[in-house]
Amino acid sequence: MVMAKGRRLLALLMAVLICGAVGISGCNEKDDKNVKNEKALHDEANLSSSKSESAVREQAKTVLCIDPGHPSDGDDGLTVQHGLREADVTLQVGQRLASILEKKYGFQVILTRQDKETIVSNQARARKANEAQAALFFRLHCDSEPSEKRTGFAVYYPDRQGTVDGVTGPSTVVIEKSRVAAEAIHQELAEGMGEQLKDNGVRTDAQTYIGGKQGALTGSIYSQVPVALVEMVFLSNQRDAQFIGSPEGQERMADSLAKGIVKFLKTN
Ligand SMILES: [Zn+2]
Repeated sequence: MVMAKGRRLLALLMAVLICGAVGISGCNEKDDKNVKNEKALHDEANLSSSKSESAVREQAKTVLCIDPGHPSDGDDGLTVQHGLREADVTLQVGQRLASILEKKYGFQVILTRQDKETIVSNQARARKANEAQAALFFRLHCDSEPSEKRTGFAVYYPDRQGTVDGVTGPSTVVIEKSRVAAEAIHQELAEGMGEQLKDNGVRTDAQTYIGGKQGALTGSIYSQVPVALVEMVFLSNQRDAQFIGSPEGQERMADSLAKGIVKFLKTN
């Protein structure tokens, strides 16, 4: 009996020990799992934070060249239409666009001019984009015609090489990327402007007066980086001019253009 009692005691003791061991090991396993989960979450958090940090670093290295059109060699852009001058409007929208691209998206932006009346040639504008090795040389303009009739925006890109002053360009790589840029920007612009402005689509440099003669616009010919140009409105149309003359209209335009540029950079 003693023996039996002893065995029972031993069995009980062993059972307690085993249960305890299982309990402890179970607990440890649970703890271990928790630790692993916490570690995984922690690692994931680290990974995502390092991803976003590297993405931010990448964006900070990406330079965009924004070109507020005029005053240039061919046209000073200082003719007043419905109380506005093209050179002023392009600078105002250009500064808003630069600010959105820098502050909201973290890109580095250079403007081809900061000043209202200094003449900067189209060749010099392209050179600034080339020297900065910009991911995009993006040019802001407003269209105009003798009547009030035509309205709306269009996005232009070079679809073939042109020649000016013995220089031929842009390269086929630049032509292809410029098309992708123009299409992305046009898409966002069409969505952002809604019923406000007429959509005149994506067009080519060759469809412009100067581009038709040279094969491409001067700025495109000299550009060694992807290049696109937007005619934001017809300043000769009162409704268009009112829209682009207002801070709200300018901000809405700049916001859509920024979205289009970001869309292009994502596909690039
Ligand atoms: Zn212009």
